[in-house]
Amino acid sequence: MSIVRVALDVPLPTLFDYTVAEGVSVEVGQRVIVPFGKRQLVGVVMECVATTDVSAERIKPVTQVLHDSAPLSAGLLDLLRFCSDYYRFPIGQTVLSALPVRLRSDKPVISKPILSYRLSANGAALDVESFPKRKVVQRRILAKLAEHPCNIAQIKTLSATVGAQLRALVQEGWVESFTSVHLPSASSALKVRNPLSNKFDAELSGRTVNSIRQHTFDNAHTLTSEQQLAVNAVTQAGGYACFLLHGITGSGKTEVYVHLMHEVLQRGGQVLLLVPEINLTPQLENYFRSRFPDVNLVSLHSGLSEGERLHNWLQAQIGAAQIVLGTRLSVFAELPALALIIVDEEHDSSYKQQDGLRYSARDAAIFRANQRGVPIVLGSASPSLESYHNAQSGRYQMLNLTGRALAAASLPTVRSINITQSVMHHGISENLLREIALRIERKEQSLLFINRRGYAPVLMCAGCGWLSGCKHCAGKMVLHLNEQRLRCHHCGYQIRVPNACPDCGSADLIPVGSGTQRVESVLHERFPDARILRVDRDSTRNKRAWQTMREQIHANEVDILVGTQMLAKGHDFPELTLVGVLNPDSALYSSDFRAPEKLFAQLVQVAGRAGRADKPGEVLIQTAFPDHPLFRALQTHDFEGWAASQLAERQMAGFPPFMFQAMLRAEGKIETELYAYLNQARAAAIELNHPVEILGVVPAALPRRANHLRAQLLIQATSRKALQQFLRAWQSRLDALPAAKLRCSLDIDPLEF
Ligand SMILES: [Zn+2]
Ligand SMILES: [Zn+2]
Repeated sequence: MSIVRVALDVPLPTLFDYTVAEGVSVEVGQRVIVPFGKRQLVGVVMECVATTDVSAERIKPVTQVLHDSAPLSAGLLDLLRFCSDYYRFPIGQTVLSALPVRLRSDKPVISKPILSYRLSANGAALDVESFPKRKVVQRRILAKLAEHPCNIAQIKTLSATVGAQLRALVQEGWVESFTSVHLPSASSALKVRNPLSNKFDAELSGRTVNSIRQHTFDNAHTLTSEQQLAVNAVTQAGGYACFLLHGITGSGKTEVYVHLMHEVLQRGGQVLLLVPEINLTPQLENYFRSRFPDVNLVSLHSGLSEGERLHNWLQAQIGAAQIVLGTRLSVFAELPALALIIVDEEHDSSYKQQDGLRYSARDAAIFRANQRGVPIVLGSASPSLESYHNAQSGRYQMLNLTGRALAAASLPTVRSINITQSVMHHGISENLLREIALRIERKEQSLLFINRRGYAPVLMCAGCGWLSGCKHCAGKMVLHLNEQRLRCHHCGYQIRVPNACPDCGSADLIPVGSGTQRVESVLHERFPDARILRVDRDSTRNKRAWQTMREQIHANEVDILVGTQMLAKGHDFPELTLVGVLNPDSALYSSDFRAPEKLFAQLVQVAGRAGRADKPGEVLIQTAFPDHPLFRALQTHDFEGWAASQLAERQMAGFPPFMFQAMLRAEGKIETELYAYLNQARAAAIELNHPVEILGVVPAALPRRANHLRAQLLIQATSRKALQQFLRAWQSRLDALPAAKLRCSLDIDPLEF
């Protein structure tokens, strides 16, 4: 009798043993269905063993071995084991949460063939120029298909309204559909080519014909000498090495990525490209497809349908997808021929998952590159201090891009506007308004950046000082004037804006402070003829809204943009020459020690939007502290100086990257239970007598959310190893504490406090 140890999606830090019937073959990494209590669950076989501690009467047999997808590789299982151990999260939940939803269910994995589209004979004979000009989208589709056949995901990157247009083209006979992709049958042996050899196994099952060996590479761009040095360094790595590619905005980091990818694809390797934001994937997908028109590129992110995600995941698993472009979850994709990992905007906090398995995809990617012996490139215009410190100390190799790729494009000039000495109009200074007027005259675009949505962050009563607090949270309700509502951004609770103060009845209610809506309305008053576009989470709630807005901006149908950090990330707007930054000051003196680092990164990014083409850009920062070192460093584009001073401060204060941290958080409705748990956890930590610092118990930054009280305990140590040793010992003590009515979580390398 053989025994398998199975990972299951249950919150227990263990594997579960089952027997396998005589004659049934089962491999490590295979999915199985097993009985668990009264349910049947899908799990993954982690080990095959000969003996078990479970008694013969209690052990149950595996119900079914699933053969509809290839077993997970030993390498992926190792990565997941590492994550489970390092982030102190149950192994079963770690393994299952890394899989596409369809692979977690017992429904058979039938990957539907994905429809592709190509020009029909008539379509191929058609001159696109003769097609009616007003059918803009249809013309775009025809032009794209004239280059090469596309699947629906590729066509969708052309426009928000592509579905109906594509159907029309099919109906009129210009375009035809066909199925192009075949997945391997369960029985076919999976052959994987060795990325380091040029010999190519053309029998690799399931490969589409057009993705073999040779690929077309749009190599119209000549590299600058700095870019070439970076490409050479990574290409010559010959195994694991971690590179920090520090390139100012507009320096052409993407071009370095493209050349590195080209080199890897030529050798038959797969590339994993991680990006922080789901919103950025369509345009990046589009871009990389245009550079590698006949390479099989798939994306992996939570915005895909379950079917699409499964399909793309399987394409990566069989080695058919040569480039995988995805958000953090794609770090767990199977990539048999992985030869290069790129983490773009490595400093971005979106790489850290904030619930469940609280992993950092950047750090997991580094582990994976090391495990697989392949190079990894971390790219950023403002690297995280952790990565920068690692590069300084020689753990990573630093690659610098100090010049803008287009010779004509110079860095934007950055100036501060002292708001204590300026005429202000609802939070916007007269100086800034005049600069905007100038841009409107020149038919150029301006962007006002304010990291706060809504009209005003709080409503106040002038009579008694009442503030619009949320009745479920310790936070304030934000005024959304357009919708006439007060909304809590922490718990989602909302009410109509009251006509009078709930405490004293006064009708004199004043919005305090500014958000995007208020800035928008001030601008409308001042520039009634200007075309103003607000971009924040409220205005882009609709799935395609943001893409449509981007098209408007590119078509120069917008004069002034008002937006949150959504606008700061990665978008190129060639007509944009002025960026105004409103209200950055609160981050300067925040209790969160990372707040200045985040602000600096944000401002570098948003400043990078200005003057990317041949027009010089200008950035104006409204602040009460124009001489603050952070703004000085921005003005002189001095990341090195700024990073050095921040690191010195962190070292003095004993913060990361000089310390390694773990945060135990708990939430509950009853204060005594909450604090009893955390105090016992603290006592257990002290008793263990490890070389760690124990800080707390203290209330969380938002001490009450959605009627739950929140508190936390911080542990820190001078080495990762010391912290991990402590956590392993502490975990079993924590598991033994009564916490039935509490929500508890342990967060390793926390980013939020
Ligand atoms: Zn009042
Ligand atoms: Zn609330």
